[in-house]
Amino acid sequence: MAYLQLANIKKEYNISRTETQQVLRNISAEFKQGEMVALLGESGSGKSTLINILGGLDTNYTGSIILNGEFLKDYTEKQMDDYRKKRVGMIFQSYNLISNISVIENVKIAMKISGLDEKIQTERAMKLLKVVKMEHAAEKMPNQLSGGQKQRVAIARALANNPEIILADEPTGALDKESAELVMLILKKIAESGKLVIVVTHSQKVAGSCSRVISIAEGVIAQDVKATPIKSKSRARRPVKAGGISTKNIMVLAWKNLWRSRQRSVLVSVAMSIGIAAVILILSLSAGITDYVNSVLISSDEVLSFEIENPDGTSFTDSEIKTVEKLDGVSDAYAAAISKNNVSYKYGSVGGTLLTLSTTEGALPQTVVGATPLEGQIYINESFAKDICPGDDYVNEAVGEVVELYMEQGQSVSLTVSGVYGDGSSYSGFSCAYVSRDTLETLYDSVGRTLLSNKLIVCVENSSSLSAVREDLETLGYTVSGENASLSDILTYIDLGTMVLTAVGAISLVVSAIMIFIVLYISVIERTKEIGVLRAIGGSKSNIRRIFLFEAAFLGAISGTIAVALSLTVAIIVNVCTASLGVGIVSYGYGVYYIAGILLSILLSVCSGLAPASYAAALDPVESLRRE
Ligand code: ADP
Ligand code: MG
Repeated sequence: MAYLQLANIKKEYNISRTETQQVLRNISAEFKQGEMVALLGESGSGKSTLINILGGLDTNYTGSIILNGEFLKDYTEKQMDDYRKKRVGMIFQSYNLISNISVIENVKIAMKISGLDEKIQTERAMKLLKVVKMEHAAEKMPNQLSGGQKQRVAIARALANNPEIILADEPTGALDKESAELVMLILKKIAESGKLVIVVTHSQKVAGSCSRVISIAEGVIAQDVKATPIKSKSRARRPVKAGGISTKNIMVLAWKNLWRSRQRSVLVSVAMSIGIAAVILILSLSAGITDYVNSVLISSDEVLSFEIENPDGTSFTDSEIKTVEKLDGVSDAYAAAISKNNVSYKYGSVGGTLLTLSTTEGALPQTVVGATPLEGQIYINESFAKDICPGDDYVNEAVGEVVELYMEQGQSVSLTVSGVYGDGSSYSGFSCAYVSRDTLETLYDSVGRTLLSNKLIVCVENSSSLSAVREDLETLGYTVSGENASLSDILTYIDLGTMVLTAVGAISLVVSAIMIFIVLYISVIERTKEIGVLRAIGGSKSNIRRIFLFEAAFLGAISGTIAVALSLTVAIIVNVCTASLGVGIVSYGYGVYYIAGILLSILLSVCSGLAPASYAAALDPVESLRRE
């Protein structure tokens, strides 16, 4: 049985939608190990096409290739990857070395793809470089070599995984006479070691040194001439023990690619980091301002509260109070009384009716001057103070004054002003006041009426629950008021502001994502040929995809890190500038935002890298290698 058998190989290309070109019409041949076969033919006769089919790069043909009794057509995609990796080694006219890695790395990359041990890789690469007489240039970069030297490195790479078959497509086509002879000599030695070597050539001289010459014309084998056989010292091939490329090596490759275009990588990362930093800053700013509001606007010993009333002014029942107490975010609720338009005051020659007179249970509005009332005192709002004291300094003047309260036909009560509170939004412009429940009851008793508990003071656990509690209370149908309602508005505005800024941040994130997409896409186009090389030496589609995805992930990690540094810097500067407020306006206590920022950045760039990576993986290796 022949070692390698080609049976009725046919290949056609679609030139246009209706026209096809039959390049290989019917190729049948048998090959033995230890042969050195020259493949001759005019330009365009289909030699490269045949080599690409034999090399496993092109699987779109009809007919059979049978290697050691196995049909190549039966191989799965993974088995084909293995075939290219370990059983054939390809050499091209244009060398196809990877330009950004050293000579020895170029040889090692084929072994990396096979997952060979790092130490074995280096040893074996040096040995192979010795075989092609290039050991002195191991650390050089490909562009520092002559054409002949490059081709010898390419041969070493083709031998890396100790394949059984070497396919060389015009290896001497671009070389001077001397280099060409050396390359042919090396190929001959390879054949002597028991491998099957197939060399495409135009040169009769090259063909002369082969053990067999096959000429292709018109898509069929025109001539098959045996010459002097190679003295083959056929040795049993020790196939390299090989699996797949390790994740670490994929990461190294990805990193090297980024490093090769490091200026671009850094620029993109910086540009992308701005969006991420904006989001981190927005979140930290919002957290910082909320902290500020909590710590400054609300002194810690003061209770956050609302006052609620039934719209019809009726008393609160016990079960109603219980319901309110059980609301989320409510810490306490207790009944108080509010008397509207019932009580009048007299102060010297002035007088009038109070819009509201409330009892002092629970939290009272924040004092502007003075203190909250004790028994026999009254706590009045600014409008009230203005009514009784005509001067500019009415707030201070009012404290300590004595006013008389009375209800129509009832007895009056004298009270000292203990303090003045701000009008607030609810009853602005109208006189309002607070007195003790006993005082208000006395006034009601004097006209024979009972005081109802028509107001409920609702204490809220913390400022962040304010707006939710307010909403719940309004849903229950109560009229909600109280000084702290405006604080709840402030917090709502902060939330709103955060949302708007977050939207702006999100837009910049989208821009970043598009940028990563474009950069990776350009990178795929630039590296098309290299992708072809990686595929030719056995790299699977998934290997290629993962290289690009890791590049995206690295870009994301770098820009995330830059974003953290950027936002910390801005935060520190802003906080130094606003230090007089006594609290950091931008919070940097939230480490979670920074970690989230980095993760978001990585996620974002991996997502935008998905399409370019898949595009790279799907590239046709033959087409890619054909690229100039
Ligand atoms: P050579 O013997 O010079 O290596 P090739 O195998 O490269 O020839 O090409 C054989 C023929 O197939 C040529 O006529 C070429 O134009 C045609 N050909 C090669 N690749 C393609 C392709 N991808 N699409 C269409 N025609 C192609
Ligand atoms: Mg060709």
